[in-house]
Amino acid sequence: MIPKTIRDALEGLELSVLYEIRDLVESQISHQESLSGEALPGKREILEVKHEGSVTYRRERVNCGKNCKGCPHGPYWYAYWREGGKTRSKYIGKYLVKMDE
Ligand SMILES: [Zn+2]
Repeated sequence: MIPKTIRDALEGLELSVLYEIRDLVESQISHQESLSGEALPGKREILEVKHEGSVTYRRERVNCGKNCKGCPHGPYWYAYWREGGKTRSKYIGKYLVKMDE
């Protein structure tokens, strides 16, 4: 549910501003997804696992569910590591590029 104040604020904005907002929302989504770690949505099939120091790299195929016509997505590589008692994750992409420690 989109809060009413946000709907009202969007009302009557110029197209160019709406495009900027769309970009902002998309970058916010991928940022949140990369931070959410264990809470990553969707069913994930793990195809390959690599350990490198404290980081685990996994190649996964993702079923996001929600009436998506593009499922399954990937496979893509993700990095997982522990930080402050939480599992963090980061989307890497089609090819494994190791993170700098
Ligand atoms: Zn999907």
